Amino acid sequence: MAAAQLDRETQSSLCAEFLNFSAKDTAARWLEASDLQQEVYQHLAAYVPRILCVGPGGGGGGGGGGSREEQREELACQLLLLAPLEWLLLGEEPAPGLALLQESNQPSPLCGHVFKVGEPTYSCRECAADPTCVLCMQCFLGSAHKEHRYRMTTSGGGGFCDCGDAEAWKKSPYCQKHTPAASRGDSEADPVSQLPADLVGRAYSIFSIMLKYCVDLLTWDQPDQLPAGLEPPDRADTYYCMLFNDEVHTYEQVIYTLQKAVNCSQKEAVSFATTVDRDGRKSVRFGDFQFCEQAKSIIVRNTSRQSKPLRVEVMHSSVVAHQCFALKALSWLAQIIQYSDGLRRILCQVGLEAGPEGDDSSLVNRLMINDSKMWKGARNIYHQLLMNSLLMDLRYKQMFAVQFAKNYQRLQSDYVRDDHDREFSITDLSVQIFTVPSLARMLMVQEDLMKTIIRTFVDHLRHRDLQGRFQFDRYTAQQAFKFGRVQSLIGDLKYILISRPSEWSDQLRLKFLDGLDAFLELLKCMQGMDPVVRQVGQHIEMEPEWEAAFTLQMKLTHIISMVQDWCCSDERVLIEAYRKCLSALSQCHGGLPDGEQPISLGLAGHSVDTFRYQVSQDKVSIHLPVCRLLAGLHVLLSRTEVASRFPEQLPLGELSPPLLIELPLRCLVLCAQVHAGMWRRNGFSLINQIYYYHNVKCRVEMFDKDVSMLQVGASMMDPNHFLMIVLSRFELFHIFSSADCRKRYREANKDLAQQNNTLIEEMLHLIIMVVGERYLPGVGQVEPCDEVRREIIHQLSIRPMAHSELVKALPENGNKETGLEPVIDSVASFRKPGVTGRGLYELRPEWNRHFNLYFHHYSRADQSKAEEAQRKLRRQNGEDTALPPPIPPSLSPLFGSLINLLQCDVLLAVEGAVLQWAMEPSGGGWTESMLQRVLHLVAMALLEEQQQLENIGASEDVTFSYSFKISRPGEAPSPTGSVLALLESLQNAPHLEVHKDMISWILKMVVKIRTTRERTTSSSAVSVSQAQGAEETVRDKDKAERKRKAEMARLRREKIMAQMSEMQKHFINENKELFQQSLEELEASTSTATATSDDSSSSEFTCTSQVCVGPRRVGGADSRQLVTCILCQEEQEVRGHGRAMVLAAFVQRSTVLSKNRRRGLPDPEHYNPLFMHPELSLGIHTASCGHIMHASCWQRYFEAVQLKERRRQQRLRGHNSYDVYNGEFLCPLCECLSNTVIPLLPHTHCPDRSVEHPTLEAWLESTSQQVAALHSSHRKQCEGAAEEAEPRAEPEPPEGFMVDFTPQNPFSSSIKEMVTTFSTSTYKVGLKLLPNEQDARVPVLVWATCAYTIQTIERLLVDEEKPLFGSLPCRQNDCLSSLTRFSSACWTAVPVTTTHTHFIKLLAALVPDSQVEESPCILDVDMFHLLVYAVLSYSSVHSLDQTGRRGIDSTHLHLLHLVTVAHLVQVLLSSTSAEVCMEQDGGGCGEEELSCQLYCTLRKHLGSALPEVTSGWQLQRCIRSGVLPFLRCAALFFHYLNSSAPPADLLVAGPAQWEALCSYLSLPSNLLQLYQSQHTVLEPLIHRWCSHPGVRQVLQGGGALVRFPRESNRLIELPEDYSVLINQASSFTCPRSGGDKSRAPTLCLVCGSLLCSQSYCCQTEVEGEDVGACTAHTFTCGAGLGLFLRVRESQVLFVAGKTKGCFYPPPYLDDYGETDQGLKRGNPLHLCVQRYQKIERLWRQHGIAEVIGHAQEANQTLVAIDWQHL
Ligand SMILES: [Zn+2]
Ligand SMILES: [Zn+2]
Ligand SMILES: [Zn+2]
Ligand SMILES: [Zn+2]
Ligand SMILES: [Zn+2]
Ligand SMILES: [Zn+2]
Ligand SMILES: [Zn+2]
Repeated sequence: MAAAQLDRETQSSLCAEFLNFSAKDTAARWLEASDLQQEVYQHLAAYVPRILCVGPGGGGGGGGGGSREEQREELACQLLLLAPLEWLLLGEEPAPGLALLQESNQPSPLCGHVFKVGEPTYSCRECAADPTCVLCMQCFLGSAHKEHRYRMTTSGGGGFCDCGDAEAWKKSPYCQKHTPAASRGDSEADPVSQLPADLVGRAYSIFSIMLKYCVDLLTWDQPDQLPAGLEPPDRADTYYCMLFNDEVHTYEQVIYTLQKAVNCSQKEAVSFATTVDRDGRKSVRFGDFQFCEQAKSIIVRNTSRQSKPLRVEVMHSSVVAHQCFALKALSWLAQIIQYSDGLRRILCQVGLEAGPEGDDSSLVNRLMINDSKMWKGARNIYHQLLMNSLLMDLRYKQMFAVQFAKNYQRLQSDYVRDDHDREFSITDLSVQIFTVPSLARMLMVQEDLMKTIIRTFVDHLRHRDLQGRFQFDRYTAQQAFKFGRVQSLIGDLKYILISRPSEWSDQLRLKFLDGLDAFLELLKCMQGMDPVVRQVGQHIEMEPEWEAAFTLQMKLTHIISMVQDWCCSDERVLIEAYRKCLSALSQCHGGLPDGEQPISLGLAGHSVDTFRYQVSQDKVSIHLPVCRLLAGLHVLLSRTEVASRFPEQLPLGELSPPLLIELPLRCLVLCAQVHAGMWRRNGFSLINQIYYYHNVKCRVEMFDKDVSMLQVGASMMDPNHFLMIVLSRFELFHIFSSADCRKRYREANKDLAQQNNTLIEEMLHLIIMVVGERYLPGVGQVEPCDEVRREIIHQLSIRPMAHSELVKALPENGNKETGLEPVIDSVASFRKPGVTGRGLYELRPEWNRHFNLYFHHYSRADQSKAEEAQRKLRRQNGEDTALPPPIPPSLSPLFGSLINLLQCDVLLAVEGAVLQWAMEPSGGGWTESMLQRVLHLVAMALLEEQQQLENIGASEDVTFSYSFKISRPGEAPSPTGSVLALLESLQNAPHLEVHKDMISWILKMVVKIRTTRERTTSSSAVSVSQAQGAEETVRDKDKAERKRKAEMARLRREKIMAQMSEMQKHFINENKELFQQSLEELEASTSTATATSDDSSSSEFTCTSQVCVGPRRVGGADSRQLVTCILCQEEQEVRGHGRAMVLAAFVQRSTVLSKNRRRGLPDPEHYNPLFMHPELSLGIHTASCGHIMHASCWQRYFEAVQLKERRRQQRLRGHNSYDVYNGEFLCPLCECLSNTVIPLLPHTHCPDRSVEHPTLEAWLESTSQQVAALHSSHRKQCEGAAEEAEPRAEPEPPEGFMVDFTPQNPFSSSIKEMVTTFSTSTYKVGLKLLPNEQDARVPVLVWATCAYTIQTIERLLVDEEKPLFGSLPCRQNDCLSSLTRFSSACWTAVPVTTTHTHFIKLLAALVPDSQVEESPCILDVDMFHLLVYAVLSYSSVHSLDQTGRRGIDSTHLHLLHLVTVAHLVQVLLSSTSAEVCMEQDGGGCGEEELSCQLYCTLRKHLGSALPEVTSGWQLQRCIRSGVLPFLRCAALFFHYLNSSAPPADLLVAGPAQWEALCSYLSLPSNLLQLYQSQHTVLEPLIHRWCSHPGVRQVLQGGGALVRFPRESNRLIELPEDYSVLINQASSFTCPRSGGDKSRAPTLCLVCGSLLCSQSYCCQTEVEGEDVGACTAHTFTCGAGLGLFLRVRESQVLFVAGKTKGCFYPPPYLDDYGETDQGLKRGNPLHLCVQRYQKIERLWRQHGIAEVIGHAQEANQTLVAIDWQHL
C-alpha cells in the first residue's frame, strides 16, 4: 500500500520538476562549480532514486522494455540525468553538436560490428589469418571474399566483425565500405588533436566522473549503503528482494520456488525466471525490509537442499536505482564515443589511467578484477563498452592487452570458480586480443604470456600420482566441471600459437623456449598417465576413468602440432627444442630399465641385449606425449635438413635407440594384444582408448608419432637387433627362435594359438608400416600435399564418398583445414546428387595403382572392404587381381637405412618360417593374412631393389640385394629351402589359390630383377633385353587375350540381362494395363451390349460419346468385382449382401487448400458443416494405401494390435509411432499409417432407360412437392405427440411418394457395421469429438471428405500437369472409387429424416424455400461441395419414391445443371471487381453475348455493387477458367459414382479438354446455354440469389470474397542463399519476452511465420496442455499438421498433433551436393529447387503424416522426443 502511494507522490512531484528543469542551466551551473564531481554527484543523489526503481516493476537489469513504466523511466533519465551531461560536454544543444562531431570525424577503417546471437558470420578459408577472423554479412557481401572459398557460421553472440583489420586477413582486408580513403595519409595522427581543446578538457572530466561513478556502483557490494556523496536526501524504507542467476538450478526449480516464495502466478514466475536467466538478476519483491527478507529466507530454504542455494539479496531501492542508472550511463558513454574517434580515445585514456592506488588501479582494471562478481546484465554492458572503445582503438588495444595479460592468471581463476558461461566472462575477450599476431607476439615477449597460460592451466589440475602425473579418476563432479572450464585456457594457447612467426627475434626465441619448458612440464605430467595392467581371471569391477585424459590429449593435439610448426620455422629454436625435449624424455625414462632383468636374445646368427618386460603382465600407458613430441621434432630435423647441416649441435650421439622405441613399441603391442583378445577382461574403457588412439582426431599426435618413433629408432639400429626387440615385446620371440616351441603351443591350447597368430599378423603389419610409411615429409621425400592425396586415395579406394565423409576421415589442422580441396580434383571426379542422396567423389582410375592394402590408417574393417573393392575393380577390368605394394617414395637421408629391415636376416628367417608353415594346408598353425603380409613384405623388398637398380644403374653400387638373399637356403631354426624355393613350391599349392596371383607377381619380379642385373653387368645387355622384351610381349598377349575374353563374357552377360529385364518390363506393362482396364472395358462392353439390345435409339450416344451423369450415362453395370484379402489370401466378390471387404484408410484434417489461414478452428460442438465456405479453410482428407482385407480379418488384426499395445504400455511407458487408442494402426502389408477402413461397395446399376426424363421445370415442380410433403411430415412428427392441432391444408404429396416409407437396408450386417465404422471415424477426426452415431452431422462429414479429397486430387493433377483421368496411381484411384461409392450409401446408416432435412436445406440454397431459415448466400458456398452433398443426400429422398417412374439420374443431372448455373453466377459476381477492361470486337460469338447478358442481368439486380464491364470476351474467359476446376471435380465425382469410363480426350492433357469435359458431364460446351435455354425457370432463381442480403454485403467488402479459379497453394518462397534466412532469423525477436533474441527461430513453410520455438517464453496452452510455439502454430495454420524450417539447425521439421514429428533433410545443399543438418560444416548452402518441390508435393499429397509414421517406425528415438515442446 505504502509503496503505491509513494509511487504516486513521487510521480506528481517529478512532473513538476520536469516542467521546471533546464538541462542547459544545470550544465551551466556545473561548469562554474569548483568541484564538478561533487555537483554531479549531488544531482544524481537527488534524482536517480526518484526516477529509477520506484515501484515493484523496477530493479531489473536493464534491457529493452515496452511497458509504460519503463518508457517513463527512460524519458526521465534522458531529460533529467543525461541531457545536462550532454550539454556540459558539448557546450551547446546536444543534437547538432553531436552531428557536427560526427561530420568532422575521420573514422577508423575497422567495422567492429558486434554480433548478435545467431547472426551469420563469414570467414574466408583462403585469406583469413585464422578461423576466428570473421566478417559481418554487409562487409562480406561487399568484399572480395565472396568469390573465394568461404565458411559461414552463426555467431554465438559477442565478438565483432574484423573487416578493416589488416592483421586479420592475408589479403583484401577491407570491404567496399571500409576501404580507407586515399587522402587519409596520416592515419597515425592522434584523433584527440583534431578536437577543440575546451571540448577535450570537458570530455576528460565528464568521462572521468561518470566512468568512476559506474565502476563504483557496478562493483559496489553493500546492499544498504551508497558510496560517499550519493546518499539520498530522504531515505525511505523500500527494498527489493533481488534474485541472481546461477547455472546450477534449473528453470523448473526456480519457477517452482518463486511461486512458493513470493506467491506469484506461474506466468509471473516464468517471466521472472526468464529475466533472471537473461539479465542475471531480477527483483522478485518490492516492499519494506521485513517483507523482502521473508521472501529471501523462503527462497534460500527451498533451494539449499541439493546444492548451494540460489543467491538472493535484499537491497535498498536507492542502491538498485543507482546501479540501474550506472548501466544506462555506460550505454550512454558507448553511444557518445561512436560520434568521434577523438572522444573514444579520451574515454580509453580515462579508463586505463592509473588510479590513486598505483599502476594496476585503473578503472578498467577494477572492472576486470570484479568481473566474476557482477551480474550478467552488468557484464554484458561493460564488455560491450570495452569492445566499442578499447578494442576499436589500435593504440589502446595494445595497452589494454598488456593489462589483460597481467591479470590473466587472476581472471582465469575467477572464471574457473564462477559458474557463468564463458561468453559472459571477461576472459572471453582473449579471442579479440590473442588472435592479433602482433599483439600475441608482444605479450609473449613482454608478459611471458605463453608460460603464464600454461602454468595457470597446470595449476588448476591438482590431483597427481606419486610420479607427479595427472590423476583424473580422483576428481569429484565439481572438479570435473572445473576441468571443463579450465580447458578454455587451451583455446587461448591456441590463439597465440595459431600463426607462426615469419621473423624471430632473440627475445621471442627466449620466451618461446621458456614457454616450451612450461609446456614440456605439462606433457611430463601426462606421460604415462592412466596406466593399465592386464586383467586375468576376473573381469574388472569398475570401468576406470579414461575420458578426461583423452579430452586433454585431444584438446592439446593442435597445440602440439603448432609447437612443432613454430620449431620448424627457426633452426636455432628447433635444435634447442630438440635438446629440451630429449632431456625431458630422459627424465621420464629415469629408472626405466631398473628392476627389469637384463636378457640376451639370439636369432639367425645375431644377438642383442635387452631386458625382460612383458606388456601382458606389467603396467603400460597409452599416453606418451613427450616421446611423441620428440619423434615429431626428429622428423623435422630430417625435413629441414638441420640434422645434416649442424650434426655437431645435436645430441644425436646421446640417443639410445632401444630406449627411444621402448615406450611407443609397448603401446603398439598393447593395441595388438587387445586385437588378439588378450585384454578382454579390462572392459570398454580400454577398447575406447585404443579406438581414440587410432582415431582421426588423435592419431596425428598419437599413433602416427609412435610409428615415426619406431622409424627413428630402426633407422639408427642394426635392423636385426630392432626386429629381435620387436619380436620379444610382441612376446613372439620363442615362436621363431625354436621350431618345437611353436608346435608345443599349437597342441597345447587352441585359443593361445589363435592369439599368437593374430599377434604375428599385427607384428608383420607393424614392420610393413615401419619400412613402408614414407608419406610424412621428413621421413620420405614428399610434400605435405602428397600426404593428403594419399589419404584421399585410400579413402576412395574403399568406396566413393561424399565431401563431408572425406573431410571427417582426414585430420584437421588448427585452422580447421584438411588440405583436401587443393588436391581432391586431381585424384577424384565428382558425381552430382539426384533429388535424394548426396554428391560423391569417385577415385580416378589412374590412381588405383597407388593403392596400398596395408595403408596404416585403415582399420581392419576398412582394409577388407578396400581389398574387396579393389579386387572387384581389377577383375572387371580384366587385370591381374594381385594387389602388390605401390612403388614407395624414396626415404630422406636420415631415415635411409630403414630399407635394410627388408633384407635383414631376422626378417628373412621370419618370412621363411611363415612360408614353411604355409606348406601344410591344414591346421591353425598359420593364417591367410599372415601369409599375405609376408608376401607383401617380400614384394616391398623386390620393389626396393628394382627401384635402386633403375635409379643407380650399375648393379655393383646397389647395396640392396634381396633377390640374392632369398635364393640362399634358410638358416636355423628351420633348415629348409630358400624363401624363393618355398615360394616356387607354394605357387601351385591348391590351398593357396587366393594368393596365386601375388606369388606369381613376386616370381616374375624376381626374374625381371635378375635380368636387369644381368643386363647391367654383362655386355650382352641387348640380347637380354630382347629376350625380356619377347617375354613381355608374350605376357602382354596373354593379358590381352584374357582381357578380350573377359570383355566378351561381360557383353554376353549384359545382353542376357537386358533381355530378361525387357521381358519383365513387358510382362508388367501388359498386366498393368490389363489390371487397370479390365474392369472398365468389361463394364463398357456389357453396357454397350445391353444398350444395343434394349434400345437402339440410345446406341448413337454410347458410340459417339461417353457420359457420366444423367439418364444417358453409361457404365455402372453389375460386373463382378473380385478382390483378395491381404490377410487370409482368400478371394471374395464385392456384393451388397456378402462378407464385407474393407480398404485401409487414413483420415486427417487438412488445410492444404485453405484460402484463409486466419480463420480459427470451428467450435466442434456447434459447428454446422453442411455448407462449406469457398475459402475451404478446413477440410477432411482421406487417403489409402489400397490394401484390401475382410472386415472380419481386419477386426481380428486390430484387436491383436490393441492387445499388444496394452501389454507394451504395461512394460514401458512412452509413445508408439501410432496411437492405437485413437484407432490408428499400420497397414499389415505396407505399414502405411491408417486410422480407419472404407468398406467396398458394389457398382451402381445401369440406368433404367425406360423411365422418363422430366424437364428442369417439371423436375423442380415435383421435387418441391416432395420437399413440401417431407416438411409437413417432419412437422407432424415434432408436434404430433404433443397436440393434434387442427389440420392445416396439407400439400398433396406427389403420386407414389410415400413419406412414411422405411426403405429396406440393401446391405448385410457386416457391411452395415463397417459403414458405421468409417462414418464415425470421419466424424471423430473431422470434428475432433467423441464418436456419436446419432449426431445428424455424421453423413455430412462423410460427404465432406469425399468432396474435399476429390478437390485435392484435382488440384494435384493440375499442379503436376497430368491428365484428369488415367494418371492417378492405383491406390488413389481405388481410394476415390470406394470413397465415392461409400458416400452414396452412407445415408443407410443414419435415420432417413436426418438426410431428408439435409437435402431440404441444401436444395434451399439453390431454390430458396420459405420454410427453411438461414440459407447461406450464394457467395458463401463452395459449389462442388454443394453438388456432392445434394446428389448424395438425394438418394434417401429417392428411396421414398415407389412409382419406379422417376429415375435418380434425372435428378443428378438437374442438380448438376442447377449448381453449375449457380457457380457461373458466383464466378461472375466475384471475378470482375478489379479486372481491367480490354475492349475486343463488339460482335462476338454466342457465348460472349450470353455472358454479357447474364452479367447485365446480375447488374440489374445488384446495381452499382458490380462494376461495369463491356467486354464479353473477357467475361467468357473469366467464366471458362473460373468454372473449369468445378467441372473437373464433378467429372471425377460422377466417374467414380457411376463407374463410367472416361472419354479418350480426358486421358491426355491437352486443349480438347473443355469440350470433352462438357460432353462427359452432359453439359453444352457453351455453358451459358444452360441459362439461356431455361431462362424462364432460372431468371427468378437468379433474382432471389442476388437479393440475398449477404451478396451485397460481401461485394461491398463486408465478408470474404473468394475469386475463381482458386489458385493452388504453395509453400512459401525460400531465398537461394541460406545465409539470407539466417540473417532474417537473427534479427527476429521473441514476440513475448520484450525484444529478446529467439534461440530457435523456426520458419513455417506453409505461411511464412517466424516462431520462437523450443522455449519457455512462447509456450501456450492448447487443449489443456502447454505446447511450444510450433505445435501451437500448427493448430491454427495446419489443423494440427506443420512443416517448418529450423533456421539455426538447417533442418526441416514435420509435426503432426502433439506427439508425432520427425526431421527431414532441408532443401539446401552445399557445392558438394550435401545438406548440413545442424550447420556444423559451414559450407555455403544454396536452395535445391527439386528438393523443395519434393517437400511441397509431399505436403500437397497429404503425405506428411505418413512420412512421420515411417520415420518413427524406422527410428525409435524419434518417438521419445517431446515434439509438443518444439
Ligand atoms: Zn562488418
Ligand atoms: Zn567492412
Ligand atoms: Zn578471401
Ligand atoms: Zn481375409
Ligand atoms: Zn497397405
Ligand atoms: Zn504457418
Ligand atoms: Zn519466445
